Amino acid sequence: MKKVEVDLLLYNGTVLTLVSDQIIENGFIAITGGRIVAIGQRYHDQLQPKEAWDLSSSLVMPGLINAHTHAAMVFFRGLADDLPLMEWLEKYIFPAERKNVNEELVYLGTLLACAEMIRSGTTTFCDMYIFEKEVAQAAKKAGMRAVVGEVLYDFPSPNVKSIDEGLQYTADLAEMWKNDPLIIPAVEPHATYTCSPGLIKRCKELSDVYSIPLIIHLSETESEVKLVKEKHGLTPVFYLDHLGVLSERLIADHCVKVTEDEMELLKRYGVKVVHCPESNMKLASGVAPVPELLAKGVVVGLGTDGCASNNNLDMFQEMDTAAKLHKVYREDPTAMNAISVVKMATINGAKVLGLENDLGSIEVGKKADLIIIDLNKPHLTPLYNHYSQLVYAVNGSDVTGSIIDGRVVMRDGKLTTIDEKIVMKEVRRIARNVSKSVL
Ligand SMILES: [Zn+2]
Repeated sequence: MKKVEVDLLLYNGTVLTLVSDQIIENGFIAITGGRIVAIGQRYHDQLQPKEAWDLSSSLVMPGLINAHTHAAMVFFRGLADDLPLMEWLEKYIFPAERKNVNEELVYLGTLLACAEMIRSGTTTFCDMYIFEKEVAQAAKKAGMRAVVGEVLYDFPSPNVKSIDEGLQYTADLAEMWKNDPLIIPAVEPHATYTCSPGLIKRCKELSDVYSIPLIIHLSETESEVKLVKEKHGLTPVFYLDHLGVLSERLIADHCVKVTEDEMELLKRYGVKVVHCPESNMKLASGVAPVPELLAKGVVVGLGTDGCASNNNLDMFQEMDTAAKLHKVYREDPTAMNAISVVKMATINGAKVLGLENDLGSIEVGKKADLIIIDLNKPHLTPLYNHYSQLVYAVNGSDVTGSIIDGRVVMRDGKLTTIDEKIVMKEVRRIARNVSKSVL
């Protein structure tokens, strides 16, 4: 009988599929043309792989999806911490951005972020920043899947001088990357308090023209709610409803201060929510009502937010925090369980980005975005429950391999697409200017 040729065969591993809690012990996954073509138990001798990896004592799972970040902000990691929000923003982050952010910083920062993300198990990230054409190029170079959108405000950014220019830049981005296998363009107005009603409506129109996601920070802090109420007489979610922009393609980041009625509205329109617990904790914004959102059937993904407010891009840490934050906040250890959090970082993250037909679980026909975790370590021994281990014990640094779109981007702890030493050296060089600029 003729054997079936495949590009890559992973065998002898524990396969966490994220399909109705299915875990395959001693399983294999066959990959061809960037997609999963077969899954099963034990070595499949009818397959003829070009390359085969023995995954004994490792676990393979869908790559993690960081559903909200500002990747290039790794440049501002630790620049200013432990300050009140407005002082932090106005005295440090905004001036540092005004004086330093250019194409080179964004490209290098994103490459550094990609190295950190690949190393800690993320295969897809959803980005919002300045000079997103550079973000797209860096993600492409790193071999990472990325949703990219230029941040848009009423006021000029270091990249665009006007609203018209910002929207044109976004349209160019959408044209440039349509049908790309890795890069997905998006329209990204910053927030309700930095964008006029007119800008938000035009963003919605543009996202309709290209059928791409519309992404906004929403109801992140009490002061945002107060501002929007004073200015428009409505709370943020009702305000967006009034503008006619709520839809299944809207991704709302944070949603910390949403009311019961607003949660109903999010559910009714199929709006997607991204939970960023560490950023919300660090900036003391509050605790998002995630158990309530989930109970209502709202799709919730997980994000790290930017490195200035986290200060890392490790989704394993984010999962651990997401589970524990809701427990301590409610004084209820059942408020959030491990499997719900793993889903937030995988299949639900894929749903948030509208990519669930391709990503988020290990199924035949889906894209091969997979990570490998070495379980043969003291802090991961013994192993009774895989989901508990992933959320409460695994660190990002336990990830040893990563495959994105069928391409190996890390093997045995070595990145194949990024020269980290050079990137870190360049980042340190530019960081000296960043540090001088906020003195
Ligand atoms: Zn953010």
